[in-house]
Amino acid sequence: MEPFRKDRLYSDLLEASAKPGCPICRVSLAFVRSYLDNTMYERVNDGEVRAELRNARGYCNTHAWMLSEGRGVVLGTAIIQRDVLNTVLEALNVEPPGRGTRHHVQELLRRLRPTAECPACVNRRVMEDIAIGTFLKYLDDPELAAALDSSDGLCLPHFSRALELVEEPGHLHRLLDFQRRALTKLRNELAELIRKHDYRFTSEGLGKESDSWLRALGIVSAERGAR
Ligand SMILES: [Zn+2]
Ligand SMILES: [Zn+2]
Repeated sequence: MEPFRKDRLYSDLLEASAKPGCPICRVSLAFVRSYLDNTMYERVNDGEVRAELRNARGYCNTHAWMLSEGRGVVLGTAIIQRDVLNTVLEALNVEPPGRGTRHHVQELLRRLRPTAECPACVNRRVMEDIAIGTFLKYLDDPELAAALDSSDGLCLPHFSRALELVEEPGHLHRLLDFQRRALTKLRNELAELIRKHDYRFTSEGLGKESDSWLRALGIVSAERGAR
């Protein structure tokens, strides 16, 4: 990894760790957004990109709708979707094989089936691994460690991926320590939220635990749109 990217990622992670939710989700969402923007602005006429999207039958649900939230995406989206619809129409244009409806349907389904994965998902996975690698590498950096101290931890999908990628025993130890602390804190906030839902304690009013249920959704199932 070239130094620029490493430094840039480190500061992205540092910033993300000081905000609510999984820092890898946050960084990865920003990567995917800029990947989609870049595709729309610079790569819509790239034959390879267009072929990938035709083969994938467009973006997956998450990335299709994320794309729609970008600026200046009308023309690019129209070009890509027209391409995909042309492919779908071509797939439908098959003569009935003359062996009954079931065979016809099976042939249609075969021709409609994507032969490639959503390219934004492929890109997201690559960038996630780079971000997790940087995260592990800088786990003992004092500034990052301080930011992580008040964070909610990694979401379960990214924590599992970090466990798959971690190599050094010191890094594993710090990862487990950090995650255990973060999850314990969040679990305790949930317990406090549940306690205050008891009619005997509702007068106490809610504190920082008030949105713990939402943060827990992100930590257990990854942040919205990040997976
Ligand atoms: Zn995550
Ligand atoms: Zn996708």
